[in-house]
Amino acid sequence: MSSEDLLARYTAAFMPNYGTPPVALVSGKGCTVRDADGREYLDFIAGIAVSSLGHAHEALVTAVTEQVRAIAHTSNLVVNEPEVLLAERLRRLLGGEGRVFLTNSGTEANECALKLAVKYGKANGRSYFVAAENGFHGRSMGALSLTGKRSIREPFGPFALDVRFVPYGDADALRRAVTEECAAVFLEPALGEGGVVPPPEGYLTTARQVCTDTGALFVMDEIQSGIGRTGTWFAHQHEGVRPDILTLAKGLGGGLPIGACIGFGPCGELFAKGDHGSTFGGNPISCAAALAVLTTIDKEGLLDNAARVGALLFDGLSAVDHPLLKGVRGRGLWLGVVLTADRAAEVEAAARDAGFLVNAVQPNVIRLAPPLIIAPDQAAALVEAFPSILDAVSVKKG
Ligand SMILES: *Cc1c(COP(=O)(O)O)cnc(C)c1O
Repeated sequence: MSSEDLLARYTAAFMPNYGTPPVALVSGKGCTVRDADGREYLDFIAGIAVSSLGHAHEALVTAVTEQVRAIAHTSNLVVNEPEVLLAERLRRLLGGEGRVFLTNSGTEANECALKLAVKYGKANGRSYFVAAENGFHGRSMGALSLTGKRSIREPFGPFALDVRFVPYGDADALRRAVTEECAAVFLEPALGEGGVVPPPEGYLTTARQVCTDTGALFVMDEIQSGIGRTGTWFAHQHEGVRPDILTLAKGLGGGLPIGACIGFGPCGELFAKGDHGSTFGGNPISCAAALAVLTTIDKEGLLDNAARVGALLFDGLSAVDHPLLKGVRGRGLWLGVVLTADRAAEVEAAARDAGFLVNAVQPNVIRLAPPLIIAPDQAAALVEAFPSILDAVSVKKG
């Protein structure tokens, strides 16, 4: 089927919540993807920070293929080996601590964290939650109630939980908002959907301290930032801060759907038998994929690669001198390219025309989150093309 056919049939068959996407992809290899008309693109978004090993990585293909042959699904009525190995591996990456609950998506990982926090709050007379304005935690009703972007939250309110929003990065506002009646604080280590916005240095350390002082749980949503994206396994490790609960998803399965909620200390043992569950959670195929991702990140030195190639991208794009370019922010392979005008959608389209998939995450911000395997020359190709991509947009308007 041609792209045109696919997109038209998509639009007729699906709910209109995504609009009509601009491209239909059929295959990929490494950091290159191919659309339904045979056009190739360099992938700088990786399915929203998901395809951490790029496309069709042999380690992922082998792990998934072998697992689907062995057994595809078990449910939680029984135990499977990949889920045990994965939970142990995640614990090892987190200093040998934590207890794991596996989910199928990011929003479900946050629902698990929220249920832990509700249970903790009920037992301790704590009735409200704090989260960040412009933060993003998912689309299911619980996670949505924590999501600080009004336009996506308010049409579906009111919500069952009392959530108070504070400006992201403002340590004083956080201090004022969190009291001994607060059950939990939910934060991303940098706003992802908000436009890749890192907080001021020390913010996460302060958030940790505020939670420790008041007894509120500190929940870190690393669904987008985790699993090597910023050059360390977890973004919170840059500041040496440990949350009480950590949520993961996107990059963990390398393209297979999986999420995790990890509770540390008492938070790992809050649920009693029967308190939570998921039919597909711990699915052996997704767990085998996640194990392959973690092994490959280690074996191929992808944390270093993310830091090194991320710096090349950051420096290269920062050095571009163009009236439409304001600056670059972020860390590792998780960057926000900030424009001087609300023209990110046009820049995304111009980049696509030039053979690069990027993402207009905000009206004035382009998000880059390529596979962790991206090579220096591929990063250099985008840097080199960037001035003419911006020119194409400037010219179109003039
Ligand atoms: C993507 C994302 C989610 C939601 O994950 P889904 O898998 O889409 O449900 C939650 N939190 C953050 C920080 C995210 O980036």
